[in-house]
Amino acid sequence: MLLLHTEKLKQIKMAGTRTFTMIKPEAVENGSTGAILDKMIKGGFRIISLKKTQLSPELAGKFYEVHKERPFYGELVDYMSSGPIVAAFLEKDNAVLDFRTLIGATDPSEAAEGTIRKEFAESKAKNAVHGSDSDENAEIEASFFFTEFERF
Ligand code: ATP
Ligand code: MG
Repeated sequence: MLLLHTEKLKQIKMAGTRTFTMIKPEAVENGSTGAILDKMIKGGFRIISLKKTQLSPELAGKFYEVHKERPFYGELVDYMSSGPIVAAFLEKDNAVLDFRTLIGATDPSEAAEGTIRKEFAESKAKNAVHGSDSDENAEIEASFFFTEFERF
C-alpha cells in the first residue's frame, strides 16, 4: 500500500518534466548547434539524450504527420530532410511550456527578445528549432530518435 502510494507520487512528480527538441538543418549547417545547446542549458534544461542525424523524407513526413493537410507540409518535409539535424530529449520542471517560452514564436519576426528563434531563426519555415507541444508528443517524438538505452 505504502509502496503503491510512493510510486504514484513519483509518477505525478515526473509528469511534465520532459520535452523533445530538434535543431533544424539551417541552424546545424550554419554552425549554431553549440550556441543553441548552450542557451537550452542556461535556460535550465538538462540533456537526457543527444544525437546528430539526418531524417529521411519518410521519417520527416511521419514526424510532422499532424500537419499533413497544411499547405506548407511538402516544403516542411523537404526542408527537415535536407540536411543533418540535432535531436535532444530535455528535462526541466514544466518542460514543454518553459521550452516553448525559451524558443519563442514560430515566426521569428514575432519572437520575443532573447528567445532562441529571435536570435537564430531565418524565417517562419527555417526557424532554427523544434519544440514539442505537449507531454504526450514529447514522449512520442523522443521515441523516434532514442531507445530506452540512450536516456540518462
Ligand atoms: P515546431 O513544431 O517545429 O516546434 P511550432 O510548433 O512553433 O514549430 P507548428 O505550427 O507546429 O509551429 O509548425 C511546424 C513547423 O512548420 C514550424 O516550426 C515551421 O518550420 C513550419 N511552418 C509553420 N507554419 C508555416 C508557414 N506558414 N509556412 C512555412 N512553414 C511553416
Ligand atoms: Mg509544433
